[in-house]
Amino acid sequence: MINREGNQRKIMSKCQECDADMSIPQDAVEGEIVTCPECGSSFELSKGTNGFQLKPAQTVGEDWGQ
Ligand SMILES: [Zn+2]
Repeated sequence: MINREGNQRKIMSKCQECDADMSIPQDAVEGEIVTCPECGSSFELSKGTNGFQLKPAQTVGEDWGQ
């Protein structure tokens, strides 16, 4: 079976904040920051067993009030 979308070479993921679809370029690298187009949340790419996973990016210089 040929997947017609196979030539897009995009990895789809979901924003953890607003559940919007996010596309991750296939040539993205681990540690790259992607930003949700819907809510503007930033996530860091982390390589998992099933491809990339998103983890919330730490914002340096803010919210260190603990
Ligand atoms: Zn979002």
